[in-house]
Amino acid sequence: MPTFDFPTWFLSILLAPFGLVLGSFGNVLIHRLPQEEEADRNVVTKPSHCPQCKARIKPWHNIPLFGWLWLRGRCASCGWRIPVRYPLVELLGGVLLAGSVWVFPFGTLIWFKGILCGYALLVLFFTDLTEFILPDVIQYPLMVLGVLFTLPQLAWPTHLTAIWGPGQNVIHVDTFFNGIQSAPAWDPMGPRVTWQESLLGLAIGYGVPWLLNGAYRLVRKTDGIGMGDFKMLAWLGAFWGWGPMLGILFGGALLGSAVGLPLMITRKAGGQTMLPFGCALALATPVVVFFGPALWLAYMGLLH
Ligand SMILES: [Zn+2]
Repeated sequence: MPTFDFPTWFLSILLAPFGLVLGSFGNVLIHRLPQEEEADRNVVTKPSHCPQCKARIKPWHNIPLFGWLWLRGRCASCGWRIPVRYPLVELLGGVLLAGSVWVFPFGTLIWFKGILCGYALLVLFFTDLTEFILPDVIQYPLMVLGVLFTLPQLAWPTHLTAIWGPGQNVIHVDTFFNGIQSAPAWDPMGPRVTWQESLLGLAIGYGVPWLLNGAYRLVRKTDGIGMGDFKMLAWLGAFWGWGPMLGILFGGALLGSAVGLPLMITRKAGGQTMLPFGCALALATPVVVFFGPALWLAYMGLLH
């Protein structure tokens, strides 16, 4: 196996520009995937254009972050004020990749899985926030990928990769390590997400909210949460196992209530007002993935 003998900060700087480009493509996904027309959902061959005046964007104006700064946040053709969301998503893409190597060992499966999950959450957060849509075209493949991520550990349960650990010591880590650990201290002895936990996560992630929604519909005669939310929980369950997925559902509901109840009390929103639950799930996920075990232990400690 290869040894990645670069210092972490160097990897960070190397990865940052790729992250900015990934963030820039995230903006394309966020803008185009929720579109109604098939042709407008093309994210591959259609060149970048201003959403307001449809003018093609010049390549040097399309450079992540710097293009926006250069244009002082306005379209070069029509002067349309580019929403802060655009540079923000680019920046978050950069932070995601640059930060990934500080949390996960570079080049391992968990590193790739973490980036993929983070990137998907970034895109879904903004499609749900702006259009109340969590596109199937993203969520179905993630359900399959979540389960596939557990397969290499079956074939090579003891495969090791050498990486730089704390204090510049070379440590050997499980190459197909697929588990959850509390950040920032990465624990190579932590639990894996097994294929059983992944499949259960997929099934329960879809099933539990489906049942809750059915009960809600009996009482209120309307859907409590959308279909996109079930699918999001399903792939999160496939990625992180059924236990953390339930934690994400709980955390998301807590966050949704914290935002939704004050809105309802001040009568800005009625009982029927839609809140983007996918956004709450996206925010709850990193908290549960990184601090879930610690939070759970603290909670159990409180009980005893
Ligand atoms: Zn324009």
